[in-house]
Amino acid sequence: MKSDTRSLVQINETGLGVDIDETLSWTVGRWAKEMQKLFGNPENLSAKEIVDKYSYTQNVPYWQSEKALKWMEEKRNSTKFQKELPLIENSNHFLNKINEIIPIAAYITIRPELVRAATRDWLQKNGFPMAPIICRPDKVPTKDANKWKAQVIEELYPKIVGFIDDSSSVIESLSKNYKGTIFHYNKTPIKTKLKVVNCKDWETIYEEVRKFFEKKYK
Ligand SMILES: [Mg+2]
Repeated sequence: MKSDTRSLVQINETGLGVDIDETLSWTVGRWAKEMQKLFGNPENLSAKEIVDKYSYTQNVPYWQSEKALKWMEEKRNSTKFQKELPLIENSNHFLNKINEIIPIAAYITIRPELVRAATRDWLQKNGFPMAPIICRPDKVPTKDANKWKAQVIEELYPKIVGFIDDSSSVIESLSKNYKGTIFHYNKTPIKTKLKVVNCKDWETIYEEVRKFFEKKYK
């Protein structure tokens, strides 16, 4: 199966791909706050504590009801919701600095096509470098989203020479032949034979990108 992305979005520059949710926007934190109110908080945790414990709202055992799952799917498709998401502190500042070393060639997100314009508005409002946004096509269901994304990233190599992403499941969905460099923004490092640089915060991402690309692109 070809992921068919190149027909949808033209990538003009060679450079890095960047994820959005949990890389630039603290989407899960916003979700957790709302879901505590709507679907309960039996452990009496703050939104941050829930995210620290479970990483993603999909992993919270008491938010697995049909209603909660439906709510999450609705929010994925909500233009209004995307526009209000909190920024991960300094991600905009560091991504602009990275853009001076190596261009941000595309944002690659599992968000559906439906919220592309709202996503662009949010990136613009927060001063991110502008680049094409690759969203998940309607025909790809949420459950296959990370696999789809890994496939897109593989197909776009070497135009997209590497990417910044928090998701270990995207990295695990790449084939062993993928040659790009992955800056994995996550407190939990991943072990793999692929070229992964584990980065605990945005300052580390910036330093690692600088070390890796500065000589090649100057
Ligand atoms: Mg993400």
